[in-house]
Amino acid sequence: MARTGVIVTGGASGIGRACALALAETGRPVAIWDRDETGAKETASFVAMNGASSVAVTLDVTDSSAYPAAIAASRDVLGSIGGLVHAAGIAAPQAVRDLTEAAWDAVLDVNLRAHAMLTKALLDDLRKHENSAIVAISSIEGLVGQAFIPAYCSSKAGLLGLTRSMAHELAPIRVNAVCPGYIDTPMLADATGGDMSYLEAFTRRSLFGRLGLPGEVAAAVRFLMSDEASFITGTHLVVDGGATA
Ligand code: NAD
Repeated sequence: MARTGVIVTGGASGIGRACALALAETGRPVAIWDRDETGAKETASFVAMNGASSVAVTLDVTDSSAYPAAIAASRDVLGSIGGLVHAAGIAAPQAVRDLTEAAWDAVLDVNLRAHAMLTKALLDDLRKHENSAIVAISSIEGLVGQAFIPAYCSSKAGLLGLTRSMAHELAPIRVNAVCPGYIDTPMLADATGGDMSYLEAFTRRSLFGRLGLPGEVAAAVRFLMSDEASFITGTHLVVDGGATA
């Protein structure tokens, strides 16, 4: 089957960057969409080193008015668009007692609303190919609770509901999610606020006594995006080193 192009949001860093590289290794052209222009360009250069076409697109994924130009720029380089990986995300910890409407909206807009609106914008492209696939990066915190990040937990649980709903509506486009545990990325470092006791607690949650690597999440994403997963839709794959086992 033709190797269609994939859009990876949040591809400038961490898990998104690892996903872009993993998909490029399978020969798929990749568009890296991120608000971090420098990071997106770096990822695009890494992808090009793997011999795959790539383009960096700078945008805020919550701004749907930017989608038409971003899609056109991606299509120009990728040729066709047959996949979406939504890895852009923010945690923005805030306890319920301090929660502001603006903080709630900011997290839900990036993590959840953007995935729905972006999928809508890409539907015509995705429907042109019989093996199109979508993967959202949810979290184990969409499955189990964690204090002080109510908006984040809600957004990640919401992604699982959105995944199941879209799988029903959009078949044969396959729609899945991945739920990472604690992965060694800039987001996790930010979330700990430099407090090593948090990092140690996260590390102990895994049955392997270590954090996960971005590439270990990307391997699951690469599988779900591939034709190897041709009968898998409307579900999620947990990549957490047994933290929720
Ligand atoms: P990261 O901070 O390294 O990467 C997130 C990327 O998203 C950054 O490049 C950032 O610029 C981009 N981004 C954020 N808001 C954006 C916006 N409005 N528009 C465009 N780009 C935007 O973090 P990461 O750990 O690699 O996180 C990737 C995804 O994995 C997130 O959805 C996160 O919630 C999820 N996740 C991470 C972990 C973990 O432990 N690191 C665990 C579970 C789930």
